[in-house]
This record gives sequence, structure tokens and C-alpha cells, in this order.
Amino acid sequence: MSEELFHFIDGERVKGTGDRFGNINNPATGEITKQVPLASADEVRGAIASAAAALPAWAVTPPAKRAQVMFNFRDQIRSHMDELAELLSSEHGKTVEDAKGSISRGLEVVEFVCGIPQVLKGEYSEGVANGVDSYGVRQPVGVCAGITPFNFPAMVPMWMFPVALACGNTFVLKPSERDPSCGLRLAELMFEAGLPKGCLNVVNGDKEAVDTLLNDPGVDAVSFVGSTAIGRYIYETGAAAGKRVQALCGAKNHMLIMPDADIDQAVDAVMGAAYGSAGERCMAVSVAVPVGEETANAFVEKLAPRVQSLKVGPYTDTSAEMGPVITRESKERIERYIDEGIAAGAEAVVDGRGLSLQGYEDGFFVGGTLLDRVTPDMSVYTDEIFGPVLSVVRQDSYVDAKQLVLDHEYGNGAAIFTRDGDTARDFTQSVNIGMVGVNVPIPVPVAYHSFGGWKSSLFGDHSIHGMEGVRFYTRLKTVTARWPSGIKEGAVFNFHAGSDTAPT
Ligand code: NAD
Repeated sequence: MSEELFHFIDGERVKGTGDRFGNINNPATGEITKQVPLASADEVRGAIASAAAALPAWAVTPPAKRAQVMFNFRDQIRSHMDELAELLSSEHGKTVEDAKGSISRGLEVVEFVCGIPQVLKGEYSEGVANGVDSYGVRQPVGVCAGITPFNFPAMVPMWMFPVALACGNTFVLKPSERDPSCGLRLAELMFEAGLPKGCLNVVNGDKEAVDTLLNDPGVDAVSFVGSTAIGRYIYETGAAAGKRVQALCGAKNHMLIMPDADIDQAVDAVMGAAYGSAGERCMAVSVAVPVGEETANAFVEKLAPRVQSLKVGPYTDTSAEMGPVITRESKERIERYIDEGIAAGAEAVVDGRGLSLQGYEDGFFVGGTLLDRVTPDMSVYTDEIFGPVLSVVRQDSYVDAKQLVLDHEYGNGAAIFTRDGDTARDFTQSVNIGMVGVNVPIPVPVAYHSFGGWKSSLFGDHSIHGMEGVRFYTRLKTVTARWPSGIKEGAVFNFHAGSDTAPT
């Protein structure tokens, strides 16, 4: 019998009341290990009501007290790191090292919001007119919802709820139904850290739960991270219902390799960037663009044996460099893209299709794949594959290589490998991409900067975490106050020490 998961509402584990469940697999074995209840609209409304009831008291809790809960939460995560990583890897499949790395990136957001009193200080202008002062404060938005993807089941929720809560909002999280256990455990740890009940609820579910969050008038803001098709729907539906929405979506990240680049450094970088987490990262490099035939030949020649020898295995094998992908459908989808690429003329330098591991024959493994001579009209180039597949698109000049980036539908990340500052400067300044790396393949911003793409990689006005996250989860209020007797005729500032007499 597989384990049955629960929701976390009003500070408690709550059993699903409906008869709809989703299966959770161990992606390495294909076994169904758990069942997750898929919430009905009523169950979701219960979570929203809990968040709404907790809001008034939490919103006026002093920021320093809210920060104290975050300090405690930070300690909780650190002391439960092994447990969280095991939960994450067992449902997602990624290596334990990758899992810990991603939890640590979420932890950095928690550390950022430990300083929330400083961030929320606001602005004040004294004496904008006679006896008139003006000040701006950032107040909570209200009840916020977060809808998150499978690929970072701890980090992406932690991009959202710590910032929302630190700003004085309450929160309903709807994690991916493929790997929801980390989201549930994090909510329990927040509660143990001293968060009042109802401030953070977790409902598991699918479209029915999401649609309720998007349409219920009790939700004020929605953060989404996931695929572009769903993100566009979330943005349009949530905005039409009058909510503030940010939707961070799919990607196709290019890495340019200039003729003057250090090829060994570029090859090292792309190994982690393209194949780490089996390519299931929205910042994964999925297109390499070497400039010039000589660069391309050297790059592919050095890269091929590294991809060929990538060690693929279950997360329980500590020597594995890459785990399985999330589901059987995902494996089939990735292999279909490789079929299409080869049929369209791409050269399979390393072909990861049909990989079967002894003892894990039913696992969802795809081997590292390297396709050379890919052209921009092929589906392996146009579409996000979300698997361990790197396409090499050879270009003759920097201008042509940059044009590829400019023309692509997605605008999450892009990187350039070069020793030339002038080219790097042109690239960083002129590409229509949200996160740009120079000799850094995955330019994920640190927690106190903000994460987000351009074009079809983000719908809405705000990126996530850092100051953009704070802006998303707060509303600016500007107060203009007149106290006519405040500055009396002839009043002066007291410039000299000791002259503390009141104005006459
Ligand atoms: P997904 O879009 O399938 O699911 C994301 C969330 O939306 C899940 O919680 C899911 O339950 C919900 N959902 C799915 N179908 C829905 C529907 N029809 N109506 C309403 N809600 C629905 O994404 P995924 O496969 O879990 O994650 C992978 C995707 O996420 C990739 O496209 C990846 O690039 C993207 N991603 C983007 C970022 C970023 O910051 N830009 C970060 C991580 C992942």
C-alpha cells in the first residue's frame, strides 16, 4: 500500500476528503510510492479562509518579530537538511547533492528576509510644502497564493512564501502534485519556527485547485512558476479576476562560445549547466552556440567524451552525476524530440535514448544527449525539452549568434564565454534576456537580487525574490500630511549643539 499524503491547513495535517488522488513515483524505479489527495474547490476555499483569518494579526505583527520567525525557520531548515533532501530526491529523482544545493538556494531567500525590517523602512520627505510631510510605506497585499513546478520542490516555494510572509501577507501554497512532500514539510517547519497557524497553508491538487485560487475573491496575489502554456493561462485568468499576478515560465537558454574563449572552461561549465538535474532546470543551458568552425570542432570534440561518460543512476547511488527524469511521459517526450531532431538532420554525437539501467529497467532514465548541427527551424531548437539534451547550433559570427538569442521566443537566461570585454559588454547590454552570464553558464541571481526572464519566460511586472519580490508582495501607500502649526512663522532648524529650545 502506498503512503497517503495530506494537506496542511490551519497549522494541521488534514486528510483529503475527496476521492481524487494523484500518484507519486520513485522516478528511478517507476514504482508508485505515495498518493496525493487532489483538493476540491471547497477544500481550497477552506485553506483560503484560514489564510484570511490569520491575516489581520500577522499583517500588524512588527517586521522584527516576523523576521524572528524567519531566523528560527532558517535554523529548522539547516537542522532538517538531510531529511528534506531525502524527501526531495525520493520524489523528484535528482541526486542528493543537487537536492541539497537547491534547498540551500531557497535558504538564501530566507536569510534575505531575516533583514526585512531594514528593507521595509520606507521613504520620508519632510517639509514638501509648508507644514506638509510626505511618506511612502509598503503594506502587505493580503492573501497570496503560490503555484509551483516539480523541478525545484523546495527552492521555488521558498522563492515565494518567506518573502510574502516577511512582508506581512498570509499564504496558500499549491505545490506540484508530482513531488509535494517538501512543500508540506517546509510548512510544518515554519509552524514549528513560530509562525501562527493559518499564515501558511498547503493544498495539494491539480487544475481544480489552481482554478479556485485564480478565481476566489479571497486571494489577492498569485505567484506561479511552471511552463509557458500554463503560465500564460494563470496570468490571464488571475489578472481578469483582478489579482496581482507574476508568472515565471519556460526557457531555452543559449550559451555563446566565442573563438577567444577558454574552451576547457566552457566545456566544464556546460557539463553542469546542460546535464545537471537531468536538464530539468529553467536555467539549464540547452543550446550551445560556438562561433566559427574551429571553435565548434574543438568544443564538440572535447565535450563528446564527457557526455558519453556521464554517470546516470538513482539518487541512492552517491556516485551518480545525473538522475532520472520525472515521469515516464516526460522520458517519452524527450526521446520524441531527439527522434525529431535526428530526422530533421541533426547529428547525434551522443544519443541518450533507450537507456536501461540494470536493476532499474522501469526507471525514467534518459542518457546525456549531444546533438550537433542543429538548425533554428528544428523542434529541438524551438521548444523547451526539459531534459538532458544539448543542441549545438554553429554560427559564423558573433552577430549571427546574438541574433539567435534575440529572435528566440524565450528570454530567461543567456551566457557568453569570451575573454573580450567589448563583446561581453555588447552582449550583456543588448540581449533581450532577463538573466545574463559572462563566463557564468547559469547566471541565477543571488537571493538579494531578483530572478526572472523576459519575453515568453515571464508574464507580469515583477521578478521574484530580492527587492522585486518585496515589491510584488507589498503595495505602496504614499501619505501626504499637513500639520499647519508644525513649522511656525520664523521657525528655524536648531543647528547648534545645545540649542534645543522649541521654535517660538
Ligand atoms: P507545469 O506548468 O506543468 O506545472 C506547474 C504548476 O501548474 C503545477 O503546480 C501544476 O499542478 C499546475 N498546472 C499544471 N497544469 C495545469 C492546468 N492545466 N491548469 C492549472 N494549473 C496547472 O510545469 P512543470 O512541468 O511542473 O515544471 C516545469 C516547467 O516549469 C518548465 O517549463 C520550466 O521551465 C518551468 N520553470 C520555470 C522557472 C522560472 O523561474 N522561469 C523555474 C522552474 C521551472
